[in-house]
Amino acid sequence: MRIALFGGTFDPPHRGHIAIATAAANAFALDRVLFAPTGLQPLKIDTNPTPFLIRMKLVEAACQEDPRFTATNIDAPDPDQSPNYTVDTLTSLTALLPEDTLFNLVGADSFLSLRQWRSPDRLLSLAEWIVVTRPGHSLTEPALALLALTPEQRNRVHILTGIAEDVSATSLRIRLHIGDPCHDLLPEPVAAYIALHHLYR
Ligand code: ATP
Repeated sequence: MRIALFGGTFDPPHRGHIAIATAAANAFALDRVLFAPTGLQPLKIDTNPTPFLIRMKLVEAACQEDPRFTATNIDAPDPDQSPNYTVDTLTSLTALLPEDTLFNLVGADSFLSLRQWRSPDRLLSLAEWIVVTRPGHSLTEPALALLALTPEQRNRVHILTGIAEDVSATSLRIRLHIGDPCHDLLPEPVAAYIALHHLYR
């Protein structure tokens, strides 16, 4: 099978996430997209996200949008409160799914910070990468050159253009906080869960 890991804070999951997962699944004939909320994001260590179990519920709701989408708790918080590193997640998935072709799905902003991630070179060897365009984040060759990829690494990075969903979880949280249900930007099951549990108020 062709399987993509799609990690993120997902606080909350929104139409941008659904759009990129759908586009990636269509373009790369993915059988599964594994939505993996991150327990403790190493590059967002000073933030205070919504508790993991609630984000997990929201991601489960978002995954109702497409039968290829599955929520996984593979990146649940570590009992010792240490950050969740994608290199560890992909290493575990490689061991669990030795017969499958693994992809790592990210938006442009995440990919452009790759050199700040733990073990970037190993990350590029553990999976093929699908990088999706995001408004405000340039994926031009000069921008990519800053990542200093070898030709072999560059061949494992697939850029998916044409997606231009100008939505972020940060702006959504602000709107939700002031009472806007954000039906235009949230998958319906996610909007319903947020309303039922009075989240982000
Ligand atoms: P925040 O605003 O809180 O930083 P976010 O909207 O960027 O959140 P994350 O859950 O951190 O969402 O993102 C998970 C992954 O989805 C990342 O790889 C990110 O680049 C990608 N992503 C999120 N929103 C978009 C979007 N609108 N277009 C393309 N990629 C996106």
